[in-house]
Amino acid sequence: MPELPEVETTRRKIEPLLRGRVIQGVEHDAPHKYRDTHLAVGRRVQGLSRRGKYLMLQLAAADAADGEAHDLEFIVHLGMTGGFRLEPGQHTRVTLTLEPEGTGDGQTLFFNDPRRFGKMAVVRPGEYAGMPTLAAMGPEPLSDDFNEGDFVRLAREAGAVKPWLLSQKPVSGVGNIYADESLWQAKIHPAQTRLTESEGKSLYTAIRDVMENAVEAGGSSLGNGVGNYRQHDGVSGLFQHEHHVYGKGGQPCPRCGTDIAKIVLAQRGTHFCPKCQVLKERSGEGKRSNRQTV
Ligand SMILES: [Zn+2]
Repeated sequence: MPELPEVETTRRKIEPLLRGRVIQGVEHDAPHKYRDTHLAVGRRVQGLSRRGKYLMLQLAAADAADGEAHDLEFIVHLGMTGGFRLEPGQHTRVTLTLEPEGTGDGQTLFFNDPRRFGKMAVVRPGEYAGMPTLAAMGPEPLSDDFNEGDFVRLAREAGAVKPWLLSQKPVSGVGNIYADESLWQAKIHPAQTRLTESEGKSLYTAIRDVMENAVEAGGSSLGNGVGNYRQHDGVSGLFQHEHHVYGKGGQPCPRCGTDIAKIVLAQRGTHFCPKCQVLKERSGEGKRSNRQTV
């Protein structure tokens, strides 16, 4: 499943193809999944940004001046298996055609999505009511908006830490792989509740490290089957070679040699080291005494 680093890698790779180009057509046969895409036709792509796992094309009138504010956003969520390709395929769901530019040719991008969880919508900027995850999304982990003090304070009151991270509310873009990797680096059990200040700080640092390394490596590619994460040019990310726990159940922890455990937590496969990441009892009394030390 594409997570933030994969989506960011996709963004960096397709932005040069899209920026400044006018959308000639958006073809698909699922208007309930790809909503109001006709509004994008004839409009110029001013830029391509990302919030969490959402890609957002800024659209303006075709004759808009450079730097003029965009008035529509074309939002793409890659779902479990979505990605852009330069060639059509068996699982192409949406065809995005760009007008020819100067003497150049037009360009066509194919949205490939074997499992069909991907979504698109064209909306006015900021109108995300139909996308509750996007509307309630926390700060970007690699931006200055991701504040250590705020994160530590929220983590102190949180329930089981991994599902809390996956909610996207404390920080955006951390999915299953990067939650497991960050918790391993910070030595925190995935089901730990109410993190102490030092645990919160460790986790904050771990999230930034893991996301930075993963973006640098171009994301993770898993397995060889159809629908595994690939870039539009067929190039795979390399971060899977840096996974410490994710997908490593039964293999030795790189830090202490104990077998990595795999459990199901909030319906997600979860990997951790039972020795490095010990679940600590935090009773109601512990909570009160935590508060007294604030
Ligand atoms: Zn260990």
